[in-house]
Amino acid sequence: MNYQKLLEVLFKLDVKTMIGVLIWGNLALAFLTLRYYLYRGPDHEKNLIQRFGIAKILQAIAWILLFLRGDISDIASVYFGNILLFISFYLDSLIVLRINKKTKIIWFRLQSILLALSIILFLLFEIMLGTGNIRIATASLSVFCILVIPNLLNIANNLSSRFEKFIGLISLFFLTLLLLRALNSLLNKDISLFTNNFLQIGTFILLILLMFVSGIGFLLIMYERSYELLRISSNLDPLTQIYNRRYFMNKAEAYYQRALREQKSLSFLFTDIDFFKKVNDSYGHLFGDEVLKTIAKVISENVRPLDLCCRFGGEEFLILLHETNNEQAVLIGNRIREIIQNLVFEENREFKCTVSVGIYSGIPDSRKNIQHFIDNADQALYKAKESGRNRVISL
Ligand code: GH3
Ligand code: MG
Ligand code: MG
Repeated sequence: MNYQKLLEVLFKLDVKTMIGVLIWGNLALAFLTLRYYLYRGPDHEKNLIQRFGIAKILQAIAWILLFLRGDISDIASVYFGNILLFISFYLDSLIVLRINKKTKIIWFRLQSILLALSIILFLLFEIMLGTGNIRIATASLSVFCILVIPNLLNIANNLSSRFEKFIGLISLFFLTLLLLRALNSLLNKDISLFTNNFLQIGTFILLILLMFVSGIGFLLIMYERSYELLRISSNLDPLTQIYNRRYFMNKAEAYYQRALREQKSLSFLFTDIDFFKKVNDSYGHLFGDEVLKTIAKVISENVRPLDLCCRFGGEEFLILLHETNNEQAVLIGNRIREIIQNLVFEENREFKCTVSVGIYSGIPDSRKNIQHFIDNADQALYKAKESGRNRVISL
């Protein structure tokens, strides 16, 4: 096969057949999205997946209507076909914005204005002029305007993954060709939707490429995100949203080994709510849960970002302060204790709550292990309880 033949195989494609590929491709993506949507169960990204599926169905219908140009009424093919296409790209553009966390209402309004302007101008030109080349030009420009801002934002966004940027780049190629196609159609009266010239073929090849890459890419991004969410939530306590005991123990071991290597002091603070059983008995479990959440928040907000804290069990919290000696740990323990003592609960303003804190600090050595630190902090807590509660005791 010679060079020219290869080029022909790759590029000598018929626009009408490519529109057929777009119809089947979008239907396949809509089907895949529906399966994914049903399989994933309830979660916060469901709206986005739903919107993506609807965009693909609208686009498939739009291409069917455009494919039937000449066989069905112009109202259905030209008017509905193009407007549906604009709406489907508009939905795509909102998805790109959402994925890039551009959730401010201004972006949504801007896109909606661009969609409305596209539809109005397309209809105006169609009614006033109604020639094939002008139609291609206005439709191309409309799709360009609807897609350009979200895709530029996607490429400029430092947080988007390489994969997301890659999709943005293909989109930009497509948009550039769209502009050239618009210009070429304005200058050339003989062009219609099914003309097989270089720009037409190029635009449709990129459109097919974009359909596959962004379609499969979207589902992969959604999958990646739900996996990440699952990974994070498996480390958290469901009620208080601070780390659970399992995660704490894993991390604490690494902190301990580092302190052992560098011979730096570590402090463990065992914190237990005083007479919590009575809180539940007097005000109910739901109020008890609120108290637990508030105290967890106070604790996590009053340790440094690199320190660790977790809900160790029922109403017990364990804190690990790195590079902290006993004196500093007592200060932090007392600060947390005082903040909790002064808390005012909206639901029950007279309610007062206190905690007892047991502390054990030291420089790790080869004779001790992490359990030794935790057991001693627990013993210190026991002493704090025995000697009257609402106090900090260190061993
Ligand atoms: P002390 O001052 O000696 O610590 O007394 P206490 O009543 O706090 O101690 P105890 O360990 O006997 O009681 C702990 C109570 O914490 C028992 C349980 O009902 C309550 N509790 C544990 N987990 C939860 C929870 O998730 N929600 C609520 N509301 N209560 C919980
Ligand atoms: Mg208690
Ligand atoms: Mg307890």
